[in-house]
Amino acid sequence: KKRNPGETEFQQAVHEVVETIIPFVSENTKYRDAYILERMTEPDRIITFRVTWEDDNGRIHADRAWRVQFNNSIGPYKGGLRFHPSVTQSVLKFLGFEQVLKNSLTGLPMGGAKGGSNFNPKGKSDREVMRFCQSMMIELHRHIGEDTDVPAGDIGVGAREISYLFGQYKRLENRFAGILTGKGLSFGGSLVRKEATGYGAVYFMKHMLEHAGGEIRGKRAIVSGSGNVALYCMEKLIQLGAKVLTASDSSGFIHDPDGITREKLDWLIDLKEVRRGRIQEYAEHFGCKFVAGKTPWEVPADLAFPCATQNEIHLEDAAIMVKNGVMAIAEGANMPCTAEATEHFLEDDVLFGPAKAANAGGVAVSGLEQSQNQLRISWSREEVDQRLTTIMEDIHTKCVKYGTREGRPVDYKSGANIAGFVKVADAMLAYGVG
Ligand code: NDP
Repeated sequence: KKRNPGETEFQQAVHEVVETIIPFVSENTKYRDAYILERMTEPDRIITFRVTWEDDNGRIHADRAWRVQFNNSIGPYKGGLRFHPSVTQSVLKFLGFEQVLKNSLTGLPMGGAKGGSNFNPKGKSDREVMRFCQSMMIELHRHIGEDTDVPAGDIGVGAREISYLFGQYKRLENRFAGILTGKGLSFGGSLVRKEATGYGAVYFMKHMLEHAGGEIRGKRAIVSGSGNVALYCMEKLIQLGAKVLTASDSSGFIHDPDGITREKLDWLIDLKEVRRGRIQEYAEHFGCKFVAGKTPWEVPADLAFPCATQNEIHLEDAAIMVKNGVMAIAEGANMPCTAEATEHFLEDDVLFGPAKAANAGGVAVSGLEQSQNQLRISWSREEVDQRLTTIMEDIHTKCVKYGTREGRPVDYKSGANIAGFVKVADAMLAYGVG
């Protein structure tokens, strides 16, 4: 706390990881003696810069942007860009730190980074978003590259933003290279990248349930968010026979007791990805309940998928969920559960799939997009999905290896932290001090 004053999100993320790793490091003294944890919690570098852009009325704005290059011990930096007014250095350091361990868990050669801006894309015209992205890339292009740092999307950065950013990089550098992932399919994007995080969260849930003797089919699921992760989490849940009861955005949530069907989901995807509308319109169109200003955690269900943002499940929500019978959670978003909420789930033996394991499918397919770009080929949808399925299964196996407890469910939180840590720590040890 003294070292990172005021960086509450970063402190929270580090605390949650370190408390599970310290017992392991105490037993494995080579890590302790080399101060690996201390070194791993300090980013390699942070680049901060001003982004100046002009709105449609000719007014000039100066926003702030960052790239936090956290750790490249096991591969080039990799991690998303977030555009949201809540973005601060603390938020990006928390996300970058988590990304290091998550990328390690995927088994692919990727270091960890995160970036973004406090620019708010909501309500902006396409032209304004384009000008912002182009201006941002004027600085960012110096710091990224296919062997250095490969950003992707995150909150507020989807296909549109990645396309503007990529187009500008190409103009500035006069080279066509895989320096961003989540690109359009006609210019180097990968099939299944858009769906990967949501699908991966459901695959991870499937493994947790099967390991405990259960299955997804027939279960009721509550999902938060209606962005990239949430929509494709819902799609996979519907495909596997679960009943999806909720969706949300920052204005509130909808509760559809009949379940969001394939047809309703198509309508919702169009609302969110094409028309950029609000979730309330779903309730008006399909005649179900909209609850303003709240999250969906009060709705009784078996499975929960928080897929919106950090700290969206508090202790009170966790208590209601446990009381209502929620048996398993897969974190689609990053750190959606507060430390107290996570503790409550773990104490009550709820199966808890932490973000760095459950939502690693997105970055995994980003890694596959990089491979395809380097080879200048495109794999089929089936091939990418098959690789994603295998990666999520491997991540589950690693969590079980380090998180198995006598007479209690697997501690996936500790398992994921330790498994992610070991690979990066071993590389850092091998490099020596410097
Ligand atoms: P999107 O911008 O596509 O969607 C975000 C969704 O969450 C929207 O419905 C948004 O509502 C809602 N939301 C955002 N901020 C808040 C808030 N402060 N309070 C309430 N609701 C909010 O982002 P993604 O789906 O890409 O990302 C969601 C989460 O998943 C993030 O935590 C991200 O870091 C994580 N993640 C994403 C990956 C990816 O591949 N995209 C990979 C791994 C993790 P509204 O539109 O009203 O703002």
